[in-house]
Amino acid sequence: MICRVCKESKDEENFPRKKKRPDGSILRATICKPCQRTVSKKHYNENKEVYFSKNKKKEIELKEFLKEHKEKCKCTRCGLSGEGITESMDFRTKETETMKRNVSYLVKHSKKILLEGIAKCDIYCANCQRIVDAEVKHGIKTPKKQ
Ligand SMILES: [Zn+2]
Ligand SMILES: [Zn+2]
Repeated sequence: MICRVCKESKDEENFPRKKKRPDGSILRATICKPCQRTVSKKHYNENKEVYFSKNKKKEIELKEFLKEHKEKCKCTRCGLSGEGITESMDFRTKETETMKRNVSYLVKHSKKILLEGIAKCDIYCANCQRIVDAEVKHGIKTPKKQ
């Protein structure tokens, strides 16, 4: 038998059995066993890449969405908002809520999960983050596990 992929002539034992014909002869694959292994591996790798890039694309979209969302947010503490400070604004889990992951991690999930996460958070400007951090450090506020 000649393999469809490597074009080498090999004993039929090198070709996986597909089924037994009614006449008793055996129908075999047209690709030899070593080639089948490489083909399925290649197939897997190609699909993995497609899967990965799909996920990456979604993540970029959600990051963009999060950035736009931040632009509309005001600092929970001082009410500051606007261009230039959005980058430094950060989410913090509300004291009444618990979250396993922080918001910046949720962009790896769906928009729904991201929105649910945002709803559990307050947003602070860089300045207030420092103040809140200090309050937590000095025991004025209870520390929050993210
Ligand atoms: Zn082959
Ligand atoms: Zn603030």
